[in-house]
Amino acid sequence: MKVLKFGGTSVGSAHTINQVISILEKKSDNEKVICVVSAVGGITDKLLNAGRLAQSKNKDYKEAFLAIQRSHLKLIDTLIPKKNKEVVKYVEDTLKELKDLLDGLFLINELSPKTTDKLLSFGELLSSYIITETMKSRSIYAERKNAQELIVTDSNFTKANVIFKDTNENIKTYFKSANQDITIVPGFVSRSQLGEITTLGRGGSDFTAAIIAAALKVIQLEIWTDVSGMFTANPKLVKHAYPIKQLSYQEAMELSHFGAKVLYPPTVQPALDLNIPIQIKNTLKPEETGTTISSEIELLTKSPVKGITNINNIALLTLQGSGMVGIPGFSKRLFETLAQEKINIIFITQASSEHSICFGIDNSDADKAKVAIDTAFENEISLHKIDPILIEDGLSIIALIGDNMKNFQGISGKMFSTLGKNNINIRAIAQGASERNISAVINNNDVKKALNVLHERFFEVKTKQLNVFIVGIGNVGEKLIDQITQQHNFLKKKLKIDVRIAGMANSRKMIFNEDGINLNDWASQFHYAEKSSLQGFFNKVVDLNLRNSIFVDITADEGVSKWYDNYLKQSIAVVACNKIACSGTYDNYKKLQDLSLSYNTAFLYETNVGAGLPIINTLNNLVASGDKVTSIQAILSGSLNFVFNNFSDRTNFHDTVKRAQFEGYTEPDPRIDLSGIDVARKILILARENGGVMEIEDIDNKSFLTEANLNSKTVDDFYKTLKADEAHFQKLYASAKTKNCQLKYVAEYKNGKAKVGLREIPEGHPFYNLEGKDNIVMFYTERYPEQPLIVKGAGAGADVTASGLFADIIKIGNK
Ligand code: ADP
Ligand code: ASP
Ligand code: MG
Repeated sequence: MKVLKFGGTSVGSAHTINQVISILEKKSDNEKVICVVSAVGGITDKLLNAGRLAQSKNKDYKEAFLAIQRSHLKLIDTLIPKKNKEVVKYVEDTLKELKDLLDGLFLINELSPKTTDKLLSFGELLSSYIITETMKSRSIYAERKNAQELIVTDSNFTKANVIFKDTNENIKTYFKSANQDITIVPGFVSRSQLGEITTLGRGGSDFTAAIIAAALKVIQLEIWTDVSGMFTANPKLVKHAYPIKQLSYQEAMELSHFGAKVLYPPTVQPALDLNIPIQIKNTLKPEETGTTISSEIELLTKSPVKGITNINNIALLTLQGSGMVGIPGFSKRLFETLAQEKINIIFITQASSEHSICFGIDNSDADKAKVAIDTAFENEISLHKIDPILIEDGLSIIALIGDNMKNFQGISGKMFSTLGKNNINIRAIAQGASERNISAVINNNDVKKALNVLHERFFEVKTKQLNVFIVGIGNVGEKLIDQITQQHNFLKKKLKIDVRIAGMANSRKMIFNEDGINLNDWASQFHYAEKSSLQGFFNKVVDLNLRNSIFVDITADEGVSKWYDNYLKQSIAVVACNKIACSGTYDNYKKLQDLSLSYNTAFLYETNVGAGLPIINTLNNLVASGDKVTSIQAILSGSLNFVFNNFSDRTNFHDTVKRAQFEGYTEPDPRIDLSGIDVARKILILARENGGVMEIEDIDNKSFLTEANLNSKTVDDFYKTLKADEAHFQKLYASAKTKNCQLKYVAEYKNGKAKVGLREIPEGHPFYNLEGKDNIVMFYTERYPEQPLIVKGAGAGADVTASGLFADIIKIGNK
């Protein structure tokens, strides 16, 4: 004999009921089958809602009733086209009885636990009747047996306790003489010893099935539902969760107690007592393996953590005070008080100082608990021995569960560091002595993120999802998007990094998608986008609360750079090619470095110097490995290099600068490049990376421009002065030429001092032949005293800048 239980979603429509019937027919081929059914999907909630409306004198209860009536009538119409009058009459009479009950509740303005049970029992009674009659109409040998005639309980309404002696007797007696192939039993409903209608608690149909399975010592209990087993985490919240093949009874119990709703917690015990295996299966995908819960699990050492669960809407209560220290009996009184109020404690921690005790209960019990505890400890509170109880709500518990966790070190470390890295604040921690469970209390709105990062950490070790938010969609931004699109699959496969762009903004509009923006048509999405603002962008990134979030600044805007500290404080990494933050005041630079350290969040800006060339990275590696930099000699301006490579006595300076600007090698305002300020900022950043405490004013910048050039008010004016001062530039050229030198704009950092300026570079010097818009940096160090470590290559351009940004993003992924 087998016991199968089908949940609400499995009997939610004619289609799924047909599927249930086909499963039952197959199962009953060679043995008798008992089938426990829930109410039609969603009906229990609807009944409760109708009852509450009626109780609060809200006439909408009538419409709520009609909706319940419609669902059931529609089911019999579809399932039993040729129905006899008796069937219709039974259903109509039952619905009439329900209607009368609701009318009564409306009149007396009351909904007691006892009446609640009566009200909710209609769900299972109707569904079991309709399913049985459908089978009979198809000549299947099925009968219904009302569980209220089998399961006996006490009078603890809404969650009655089973009286097993009587219950087991009833079940055994009935099934001894039952002849039908299939017996349909309504789950959840029961009857007290005094004959009152009771229920086993929300989700209790699973328990009904377990009780019957145990009473009859069947060979297997099957729980059929809408998912293919007990998953590694709630599949509705974690897309990558997958079914766990095997679980021990203890693991299953722990998972269900800590929120894996797929199994009602008390279900496991009766099966465990008799060693009856439980299978969890999917009604719509019966071919899938599902989960087996038994005592014979193979030791799967792969992951000591079997599942991650969550219970939402928890309130955390803290009882504290110096009067608690060393005085026995506080906890006992506290828990007795809660027990008297029938408040279930889900979570407890106590610091070893005994100065405070902290416990988690359902939000809805919080007020009741406060009143009861403050009353029970009134005396101690008035003597200031303890404080009035503290309540924090809006919290959730998340838990890692697995039998084998105790044999592995460092699991809690991994759990908490993963949460910490993602800025998930932990309010309290508990670990059972069995080490089968490590739980933490966090904010409700962090649950989805927490489950996903933990799932990634413990079950998908391999892929790490990065959520990128880009501000500034110009040339470089577009190139970065192209590169991410192109490399997406490769990165996922080779580096196990899943890079998604979850938000983008230009100065006018911004778009977001928490599942990643579709990169094939991102541009068209801007048409319907919301107006952008830096505050709005920040708020949205924080609200989305996605794991491994990275803010990427591809602007040259000071306003944007002012937001970095806010992002870092939310543990959101910052990647910037904007160099304003790193070359602004030292205090600000230092503050950002410190935030990055204290929030353990990356702040990367490799592209601040030499675009995609690994200059900052190389310097950081030299310093980190203990080398000492004695000097840095560099050409750091692609624009100036381009200008001086093309300027000669056969061209003129004005036209050469114009051309550089036209080809995109200068800033929109070429004065920033030609004045040397851009190079000064870059050498300043390198000096700071080397440990130098410096401001931009400390950099010796002797300009090769004339007073008139420097004093020009606008870009147009500037060009005019360049034309007027052509002779000055020709003189610079001629001087270099006579010495057989090239003009190069050089930055130098030596003995803690930095300077930038135009120099005449002799033939043979590594700078002499530097072409086009290339950059070169020579690091002279203790380990490279004569032959410097040289980094050289294209130092400007959208493509290489984008790839530098991309490299920073991937670096975060590899961390
Ligand atoms: P039924 O109506 O069949 O009793 P339930 O709604 O009670 O179904 O339980 C199934 C639901 O449990 C799933 O749809 C899923 O949303 C939820 N659930 C939560 N945690 C888990 C988990 N770890 N594994 C599977 N399902 C889970
Ligand atoms: N119908 C009841 C509920 O929704 C019992 C069950 O489905 O297990 O809680
Ligand atoms: Mg259920």
